[in-house]
Amino acid sequence: MALELLDTFAVPSVPIAGIEERFPVRRIFCVGRNYADHVAEMGGSMREPPFFFTKFAVAVVQNGARLQYPSGTANFHFEGELVVAIGKEGSHVRAGQAHELIFGYAVGLDMTRRDLQLAARDRGRPWDVGKNFEQSAPVGCVHRRSDVGAIERGVLELQVNGVVKQRADLAQMIWNTAEIIEHLSGFYRLTAGDLIFTGTPAGVGSVASGDRIDVRIDGLSPLSVSVE
Ligand code: MN
Repeated sequence: MALELLDTFAVPSVPIAGIEERFPVRRIFCVGRNYADHVAEMGGSMREPPFFFTKFAVAVVQNGARLQYPSGTANFHFEGELVVAIGKEGSHVRAGQAHELIFGYAVGLDMTRRDLQLAARDRGRPWDVGKNFEQSAPVGCVHRRSDVGAIERGVLELQVNGVVKQRADLAQMIWNTAEIIEHLSGFYRLTAGDLIFTGTPAGVGSVASGDRIDVRIDGLSPLSVSVE
């Protein structure tokens, strides 16, 4: 029985632009509160060190996915984000060398049970049930850094049913991708296959069954999902 179960388990992966191979997903790290206007809308203060939470690798879903409305929540939120795909091992990496670890970039959605996340936050409890659940990490096509260069600025825009809900420039991040890698690699040995969700700007909100979410970032393939 155990071996049969192992046979059914596929390594989660996302497509890579321009080649047949896919990017195997090992771990998912997420940065909390990385745009000043989103910090403000969530009632926080600025310029604290970045903090991190995680999602299961199997929470990844592909562009075009139909998300089942998750159980246990009445406030299912979108967070459009730039995702960094790690292609090389490193720990205690300085920001000046961080680019060496970056394989590429993708558009992502940090889907959130906001009611459960806030209840956990207010009681000092873990965020897991609010952040880490099935289909909570839609990720689009990974574009290699060798193809698109460093993605440090450019528009991130999210629409729900064609209406703009989030629009910001990546340059507005409090901690840029190099600084994120410097901090995160002080706690974890980053390895090829790790994904880092770099935080969301202001404008987060809820979706309902039947809604469609479209996210785009300049220079990357867009990401679209629908809610069942
Ligand atoms: Mn987020």
